[in-house]
Amino acid sequence: MITRKTLIDKVYKRTGGVLTSAYGTPRDGGARKHAGEDWDIAGTESPKVYSPWNGIVTHAQTSMLNDRGREVEIKIGKKYFWFQHLSSCSVTEGQRIAAGKQFGVQGGSGKALGSYKSHMHFEVSNYPMGDPRRIALNPVYGLYLTFIPPKYPTKKVIVSDLHIRQGHSVKGKALGYIDLGPIEIFEQYVQDGYVWGRIDWVLDQWIALRSTDGKKVYAK
Ligand SMILES: [Zn+2]
Repeated sequence: MITRKTLIDKVYKRTGGVLTSAYGTPRDGGARKHAGEDWDIAGTESPKVYSPWNGIVTHAQTSMLNDRGREVEIKIGKKYFWFQHLSSCSVTEGQRIAAGKQFGVQGGSGKALGSYKSHMHFEVSNYPMGDPRRIALNPVYGLYLTFIPPKYPTKKVIVSDLHIRQGHSVKGKALGYIDLGPIEIFEQYVQDGYVWGRIDWVLDQWIALRSTDGKKVYAK
């Protein structure tokens, strides 16, 4: 379980964030209700904003096509965290984002209403934007009282014959015998005949664990 303060402190990487408009506040003369929460760091025009936990960027809008302005959606555990009205967005769709990494700068792009012209509109849902099942949850009941920050599965391995790549596009390269000792594998994927294991969340470094035919094992 987390609190609103926990989350806001993590997103701004400082304390002092405030709620400026609650979920459900009437909008457009009562025609609709506020689907999320608005936050701000009082007295700060454009604070940088950071991913509160490890996640995957499921949407990143760098231009301003609609009322939401520049926006970023990050999947964290099983929830989708949606941040709107950014003045700039510094991530791309599909990117893994580590806890504490900046994803943009707060702003007032799109239709940012209220006395706090620059603010963070935050929404949470069990489904991504564009999914017909998507409903914006009340963060109090759908997040703060229920959310447990995800722990990514890790496995310790002993590495001998090391193949390493940085990012997904670089070809694996044999570096000869290297014993790294036990290291943690954060996640795995298959490409170019190898099962790759991620050894660093931030640096995007991977090692070959074994060949996909199972004949060669590089790390165990
Ligand atoms: Zn809002």
